[in-house]
Amino acid sequence: MMRCPPFKYVAPKSIAEAASALADHGPKAMVLAGGTDIVPNLKRRQFAPEALISLRNVRELRGVTLGSDGAAAIGPCSTLADLALDASIAKSWPGLSRAVGSVASPLIRATATLGGNLCVDTRCNYYNQNFEWRQSISFCMKAPSGTAITEPGHATCWVAPSSSRCWAVSSTDSGPMLMALGATVTLESKARGKREIPMTALYRDDGMDYIKRAPDEIVTAVRVPAPKGAKSTYWKLRRRGSFDFPVLSVAASVRFAKSGEVEDAHVVLGAVTSCPLEVQETALLLGKKLTDDAIAEFAEKASAHARPRRPQGNPRRRQGVARRSRPARHARGELPWLRKPSRQTASPSRPARSGASGSAAPRRSPSSTRLPWKSRWRSASAAAHSPSRCVRRDSSARWCWGSCSRKG
Ligand SMILES: Cc1cc2nc3c(=O)[nH]c(=O)nc-3n(C[C@H](O)[C@H](O)[C@H](O)COP(=O)(O)OP(=O)(O)OC[C@H]3O[C@@H](n4cnc5c(N)ncnc54)[C@H](O)[C@@H]3O)c2cc1C
Ligand code: SF4
Repeated sequence: MMRCPPFKYVAPKSIAEAASALADHGPKAMVLAGGTDIVPNLKRRQFAPEALISLRNVRELRGVTLGSDGAAAIGPCSTLADLALDASIAKSWPGLSRAVGSVASPLIRATATLGGNLCVDTRCNYYNQNFEWRQSISFCMKAPSGTAITEPGHATCWVAPSSSRCWAVSSTDSGPMLMALGATVTLESKARGKREIPMTALYRDDGMDYIKRAPDEIVTAVRVPAPKGAKSTYWKLRRRGSFDFPVLSVAASVRFAKSGEVEDAHVVLGAVTSCPLEVQETALLLGKKLTDDAIAEFAEKASAHARPRRPQGNPRRRQGVARRSRPARHARGELPWLRKPSRQTASPSRPARSGASGSAAPRRSPSSTRLPWKSRWRSASAAAHSPSRCVRRDSSARWCWGSCSRKG
């Protein structure tokens, strides 16, 4: 069982108290809302804050208030379940209802909050693992602060080893939708007071430093402007339909003129990079009716943003590429699963690669005994096969096609 590291729990009752508790503890304190993201991350030692400032008892941070102009002020500590069931939100911003209703599972939505969802940490297969797992790969750029890392290579990004930045992916569901709706967030701290910024200015395209919220700032309000006739929707692609983080999400808000042409359109993609990405190609739709052709043209242009940047971006795909290359490597005379023999030993080297013409061009062996490539291949296989250790336990086999050379 994984346990949280020790921390001090502070439960203020007002925004002012919370801001001052956060300021007193400095950058070593973190805000705790529903805890559905931060608690698993603490257990995996992704961070180790000295204090958690809980917003659970701050009542002024909850609830939805509708203004006379049709705008809404949403308390960031409102739970996603409450927002998904809110009739006024479903009527005016159906896309927001869909977005918050698609987060995780009903149980998680009953605890998770809107503020937590906006600030949720970026995700990566090499990061969302327990401490020991990450330690075994010498961590990466997103190593826990304060961890004494001495192994070389800890500053490597395992997704893109030659990259100087972290590519962890933004996985918030409400962020893209609120951006498409033109919402703003209010941030409050003891030192700087209140500031209201547009949602489009909240994120940064950097997997490590993904949010422009200062460590001592609390999200105290989310304001959604009146829809003024705009229609909104949210679509989410995920691996498990019942509950999962998005693999790709699309948030759209479109307003039509009386004649049926598009007057204003905002489309934001989620989970394609380290921040929600506003699609600029919506300009193609302006002044047009949403015909099948117009939609197809726009979708074609917008899909360019949703393509993986490079094969290394997806470890499974990279492994797939490696695996698919094995038959071809084997066909050209390699035994790809054999260990490369040491250059110091007199053991035969790997079989030669065939040239483009198909002729076998032996590689230069460091040993004085240079055998034809077929003999070297056979000797290498025989050396690798050890009947007593063979995983197939098939001592009668002439060749070992198992992986005893790797596992033995
Ligand atoms: C199994 C599982 C599936 C999930 N699926 C999804 C998913 O599909 N989509 C998705 O978006 N998320 C998903 N999540 C992540 C998480 O549950 C949600 O993002 C949730 O909304 C986080 O809200 P919270 O209140 O629990 O945040 P917390 O865990 O309490 O906090 C998350 C982060 O936000 C900060 N924070 C919280 N509130 C404030 C505030 N008011 N001001 C400043 N900072 C604040 C915290 O300091 C912390 O860094 C999933 C989690 C799990 C465990
Ligand atoms: S993208 Fe790279 S640096 Fe960022 S968490 Fe993943 S492996 Fe680490």
